[in-house]
Amino acid sequence: MSVAATAGSVHVRAPGKINVYLGVGGRHDDGYHALATVFQAVSLYEDVIARHADDFSLTVSGVEDVDSVPLDDRNLAMRAAKLLATATEYTGGVALEIRKSVPVAGGMGGGSADAAAALVACDALWGTGLSPARMHDLAARLGADVPFALHGGTAVGTGRGDQLNPALARGRFDWVLVTSEEGLSTPVVYERLDILRGEEGALADDPPLSLDVPIPVLQALRSGDALQLAEGLFNDLQAAAVYERPDLEDVIRRGVEAGALQGLVSGSGPTIALLCPDPETAQDVQTTLRGAGLDPLHVHGPVAGARIL
Ligand code: ATP
Repeated sequence: MSVAATAGSVHVRAPGKINVYLGVGGRHDDGYHALATVFQAVSLYEDVIARHADDFSLTVSGVEDVDSVPLDDRNLAMRAAKLLATATEYTGGVALEIRKSVPVAGGMGGGSADAAAALVACDALWGTGLSPARMHDLAARLGADVPFALHGGTAVGTGRGDQLNPALARGRFDWVLVTSEEGLSTPVVYERLDILRGEEGALADDPPLSLDVPIPVLQALRSGDALQLAEGLFNDLQAAAVYERPDLEDVIRRGVEAGALQGLVSGSGPTIALLCPDPETAQDVQTTLRGAGLDPLHVHGPVAGARIL
């Protein structure tokens, strides 16, 4: 039994993510779209504390719309704990405490970060000692974004986004995130994309010809070149997210006017990620946008995945 297994509680921190590139293919029979994406883990974190208990329970606090987070088996952290227990034949339970900083339904994978953190926390608390490969498998079963929250850093995701390859990324990238009070439903945004593509005459089940991440995006990450990365920022879901939330375009425009190099919708939105050339400019952008009544946060990436504190 590991040392952690004898401790009364385990505290794990896992990051939210942005997709600096998100190419979406056609919809497959199982309902999922093929993706080619580049994730970057950023310094906005979810904290999960796991304590020994006979049963499974969960509390959630933090961000404003925390009331919309389910506390039952629909919660990804709860599902993660139960999946690990089943996989390892652990017969006890856990009391999970989630402290959220990542906006709910914000396109930043907050629920996925909670799931990754719960896996790591319960594995340590229970002393189940799963190998990294088995942890990855369980993470992928919980959701397409969960493996990335486990690994962190910068990575290319293919398949549903769960087949990960680490991408070399030098230095640090400064982002200003503009969050929204109300989230966007990921399935609604994907459905809108299918409709928009249909209206444009493309068959919804005909994937775009190329689903590769463009080489210049990978080069920009490798050389730590924010200017080059700004030129490659891309999200196939952006038009669909903007259809649902037309104000998002204005947020990007304001961010660029305030000094950001470029901005994009993060994942399925509505969070906007504005790439800045340096920390000082990011501070300026944050101040300007706050003055305009928006809710901006200065973060940086890449950062590590789920870690025990
Ligand atoms: P996605 O990873 O699908 O892009 P997202 O990052 O936009 O999602 P999340 O905050 O992860 O948004 O959650 C989306 C929905 O999942 C929420 O509206 C909520 O109903 C449900 N959910 C399940 N577990 C959690 C959790 N631990 N935290 C937040 N939402 C959760």
